[in-house]
Amino acid sequence: MKRLRNYIGGELLEPLGGDYLDNVDPAVGRIHSRVPRSGDDDLQRAVEAATAAFPEWSTTPAEERSRFLLDIADRIERELPALAQAECVATGKPWSLASSLDIPRAVSNFRFFATAILHTQSESHMTDHRALNYTLRRPRGVAGLISPWNLPLYLLSWKIAPALATGNTAVAKPSELTPTTASLLAEVCRDAGLPAGVLNIVHGLGPEVGAALVRHPSVPTLSFTGGTETGREISRTAGPMFKKIALELGGKNPNLVFADADLDEALANSVRSAFSNQGQVCLSGSRLFVEQDIYDSFLERFVAETRKLRVGDPLDEQTQQGALVSREHQEKVLSYIRLAEEEGGRVLCGGGPPEDLPRRCRDGFFVEPTVISGLGPASRVNQEEIFGPVVTVMPFRDENEVVEHANGTAYGLSASIWTRDLARAHRLAERIDCGTIWINCWLLRDLRVPFGGMKQSGVGREGGEEALRFFTEPKNVCIRTSA
Ligand code: NAD
Repeated sequence: MKRLRNYIGGELLEPLGGDYLDNVDPAVGRIHSRVPRSGDDDLQRAVEAATAAFPEWSTTPAEERSRFLLDIADRIERELPALAQAECVATGKPWSLASSLDIPRAVSNFRFFATAILHTQSESHMTDHRALNYTLRRPRGVAGLISPWNLPLYLLSWKIAPALATGNTAVAKPSELTPTTASLLAEVCRDAGLPAGVLNIVHGLGPEVGAALVRHPSVPTLSFTGGTETGREISRTAGPMFKKIALELGGKNPNLVFADADLDEALANSVRSAFSNQGQVCLSGSRLFVEQDIYDSFLERFVAETRKLRVGDPLDEQTQQGALVSREHQEKVLSYIRLAEEEGGRVLCGGGPPEDLPRRCRDGFFVEPTVISGLGPASRVNQEEIFGPVVTVMPFRDENEVVEHANGTAYGLSASIWTRDLARAHRLAERIDCGTIWINCWLLRDLRVPFGGMKQSGVGREGGEEALRFFTEPKNVCIRTSA
């Protein structure tokens, strides 16, 4: 059985304690590799390697850092088929998604930040005729980067690229459920000749090695993407240590369809936003609100389109819906479907594991795309993040009512609004409390824009300038220019 290794100080190493975790292929329900269950001593080695690499990397000219990152991007691009396949096997996501979204986005992340650092500028302020101020932006040291399982390489590279581009060194902790592409990235970085210790990747459990990274005194910067409860836990430790933290957390995102919208577009994209990656996207449109006049007809078409989604073997190029990431997660999602029924909801399609899976996938962790109506906005199913292929549909009367429902959860990550009335779109964009508002689109991403959540969906922003700022420390230099 293949054993993954940690990447520390430029070497691929076994965990010092010799412990491993099983890595299960969710589409078939069987172990396909073993992943290090690293401990405090592995983490300590990684932090020491990153600390030792910092003085040289932080003073390496931007153009040279950029060349390393561009080379890494090119190598990922060349390895796209192998990386996409590894992502499918680790996560259960369909090949069509891994090859068109996950891996290409990892390439873009490296290219984007590799070139961004060649075009940055810093502020200067003239104080009347008395002084000139300018801002130095310096890398902060060792960055701790913790990422989830739903978009493994996509989200890990979204943190690694800006951290390294700005001259920090890093210790990354990928999700223990989907470690394979992180381990392949380590090989890519080694082959690209990235100096030893600039990037270190340590595998293992969140509450063990993840928590050790969070509380390590030599790691002043933490970028975390994952669940809201984990974010809370991380804040409890990092807050009193005055670490700089960015938290990208859960979502329960509203998707608003008005009667005046281009309904074909709204329909196709509402299905996509509800079920892409089996609904395991923090930005999923999991609460669909439809204006009353068109509610019945839109819902009927929405259910018909959902039924057409092809659930099957992730490695089959025709598959649109693969497996969920783990048995525990499958059980969690199914428990929410049962809860929906207890709360008075009606399951209009889906509702359980599919019956006609290919033979290879009979023991996989699948759930059919599921549409539920008849639940009030305050129900638990409409308040808690399910993170699976389950969408609830509700009618609304007018703007005021739908704004109240859209804002009526603890989350505030993203919202989509479908309407041809631009004035209304602007009004609602201003009133809905989410970090990202999409108007007549979903998941249309420009890497320059600020990305992050409000309320319990997160603290801080990633993307573009925001990321360059996050990973650097501004220092103001004030020079008196007259007596
Ligand atoms: P999770 O919080 O369970 O785990 C995320 C990462 O944190 C993993 O690497 C895990 O090992 C680690 N971890 C767990 N406990 C830890 C601890 N005590 N200390 C340090 N690290 C710890 O989340 P998940 O189940 O992997 O991912 C799903 C969640 O991520 C969903 O809530 C989803 O909405 C969210 N998410 C958010 C975004 C965003 O950009 N806002 C993007 C993707 C996923």
